Amino acid sequence: MENPFLNAQKQLEKVAEQLNVSSDILAVLKVPQKIIEVNIPVKMDSGEVKVFKGFRSQHNNARGPYKGGIRFHPNVTKEEVMALSIWMTWKCAVAGIPFGGGKGGVVVNPKELSEGELERLSRGYVRAISPIIGPRIDVPAPDVGTNGKIMEWMVDEYRQVLRSPRDKTRRTSFLNENEILATFTGKPVEVGGSLGRTEATGRGGVFVLEALVKELKKTNSKLKVAVQGMGNVGYWFAKIAQEEGLAIVAISDSRGGIVGPAFAKASAGKDIGNIEKIKEFKEKTGSVVGFPGIKPITNDQLLTIDCDVLVPAALENVITKENADKIKAKIIIEMANGPITPEADEILNQKRVIVVPDILANSGGVTVSSFEWEQNMAQEKWSEKKVNERLKKTIEEAFEEIWKMGEKEKVDLRKAAYLLAVDKVIKAMLK
Ligand code: NAD
Repeated sequence: MENPFLNAQKQLEKVAEQLNVSSDILAVLKVPQKIIEVNIPVKMDSGEVKVFKGFRSQHNNARGPYKGGIRFHPNVTKEEVMALSIWMTWKCAVAGIPFGGGKGGVVVNPKELSEGELERLSRGYVRAISPIIGPRIDVPAPDVGTNGKIMEWMVDEYRQVLRSPRDKTRRTSFLNENEILATFTGKPVEVGGSLGRTEATGRGGVFVLEALVKELKKTNSKLKVAVQGMGNVGYWFAKIAQEEGLAIVAISDSRGGIVGPAFAKASAGKDIGNIEKIKEFKEKTGSVVGFPGIKPITNDQLLTIDCDVLVPAALENVITKENADKIKAKIIIEMANGPITPEADEILNQKRVIVVPDILANSGGVTVSSFEWEQNMAQEKWSEKKVNERLKKTIEEAFEEIWKMGEKEKVDLRKAAYLLAVDKVIKAMLK
């Protein structure tokens, strides 16, 4: 695959040209403000010490503290972490939340570690990056390969670092308990996490789709939706969409997909059935494939199925120049990060398929993360209803702004989102 950092830079250059951005500002925005590389020694269960490589990239903080997840994956590279931090800057700007862009990563396959090794690695990473994080400096969160439990270990380690006598000279040592909690988001609810965070990305995606449907003057109930991926994002998207009256006609995971019998008759647009039951089946058997009474399909078939809305919610680069032309959906909601390659994007544009870009479609997660930060800082605990209402309002406003920009500049929603985001960041830099 191409270097993601160069891709993020190219993307920025194109937008900067349209916005007439000065070469000075462009030079600043093209690189992270800071990137640190750390070596983390971990005592393995065997007694041997292994050293893992980690990174934290802080791209831009003109709009607020850096914000972005920590990825534990064997393919993590410095370039990938830098690119992801750039995209976080745009995502926070699109969502209108007061944060900048950051990202972290450790080169490791977490599945190969015991629980104890994973905990020691997580704590070691936090010790290494602790001088450059804090509630008003840089606020990490979970990403691929990390979760709430890991955030709990990280907060605990951060607290210990700040309280250790060696930290006396550090400016972060005056932080109180709420501020320590606010340094990480995506925590379990019992240790300062927000209600509604687990569902937030999927729920935000449904709000985006509803806002689009309203704009197009269509109604929800007749729409047939196919979802690729049945993980955190795909499951919650499908479940909430179903509750809102949309028909989920197909869903998949890494082993393949299923398509509803009603759908096979083509007309009805009825869905595949209760998503929760399908999830229970997947938990028991490891896959949605084989769910009784429903036809299996491949992931390739799912992408080109006859439906109104296609929701890639699994991996990057699944819609390519090879299959873009065969896609029948008129709307694509990018719930995964980067599911459409640039060549495929052009083909879809020519076919007049409406693509809601990832930086808007999946911004529900970071938005509720920002609510978690707000609750921690203010020592508040919001009800799930309040979280969901604020999420809806934030997403609807972001959608509206992008839609209007698209109409004004006569560009697609992806271009509109980038124009808006880069403009907001530059205005904040020049303040
Ligand atoms: P997850 O690991 O919970 O789920 C991923 C799903 O994709 C699983 O069902 C898996 O079986 C499926 N999958 C894996 N390989 C596949 C393949 N080859 N074909 C089809 N399906 C395959 O991950 P997630 O948290 O749901 O994240 C999914 C995407 O959404 C990622 O791109 C992630 O970066 C993005 N995202 C997630 C969040 C969040 O809050 N979790 C926020 C923003 C963006």
